[in-house]
Amino acid sequence: MLYKLGVDLGGTKTEAILLDENLNVLERKRVPTPQNNYQEILNSISSLVLELSVNISDFLLGVCTPGTISKQTGLIKNSNTQCLIGRSLKEDLENKLGKKISIENDANCFAMAEATMGAATEFSLVFGVIMGTGIGGGIVIDRKLHLGRTNIGGEWGHHTLYRNGHSCYCGKTGCVETYISGPSLEKQWTELTGKSQILPEILSNIDNTIGQKWKNEFIENFGYGLANVIDILDPDAIVLGGGLSNIDFLYTEGIESVYNKVFSDYVDTPILKNKLGDSAGVFGACML
Ligand SMILES: [Zn+2]
Repeated sequence: MLYKLGVDLGGTKTEAILLDENLNVLERKRVPTPQNNYQEILNSISSLVLELSVNISDFLLGVCTPGTISKQTGLIKNSNTQCLIGRSLKEDLENKLGKKISIENDANCFAMAEATMGAATEFSLVFGVIMGTGIGGGIVIDRKLHLGRTNIGGEWGHHTLYRNGHSCYCGKTGCVETYISGPSLEKQWTELTGKSQILPEILSNIDNTIGQKWKNEFIENFGYGLANVIDILDPDAIVLGGGLSNIDFLYTEGIESVYNKVFSDYVDTPILKNKLGDSAGVFGACML
């Protein structure tokens, strides 16, 4: 029996899961992620792996990590868990565990999980979208990740929506992420209303002129962002994940906005809500 062991390294928690070859969950464990200490993160991941694999001999090991992994250097960049930046997490874990591992960022793990075990299992080309603090994406073709020549396949969050738009941490201006991520939507709300509120509060307060203006801008930007993706990739399905994927109007007015902007007189791309929720990272790590 070939087992699959997946680890999801999150900003606050680290989760590990062990699956049998029929993808049944055999064991699952969650611990707090050590803060600002790379060595302790390595120790924590290897303890989880040893604990879950104590009774089995052969297993595939995958790890889901924040940030992107540079194709040239193998080092992690753009991670909000800052002590990982510039580190070779894959190599360091392989040395520590004496075992080959697969490692991918959270958007790619999300896409893999939803395409193989979640909302989009019946589709061949799946575009998985993370909409939360940041905006990410991953492409899965016939149950395999498509990373691209430079490992940035699917990174629609840094497409330019407005050439002279908001500044982005990535060095460009007008990126999708600076318009439809959680923090940027909250910023736009503050600019319109003068109030500093978090997204759930904003969403319960949009049945008025200013609220509708905020919502319409959001839907328009969401529409342009995903219509660009469809024009280039023409996926069989898109799955939404991350905190913002719980916003109901994205599946009604949002989808309509996307369809209106696609370069075709006919578009019916399913835009689906994820099925695995917070567990997509750890399941995706198993499927790498
Ligand atoms: Zn950017």
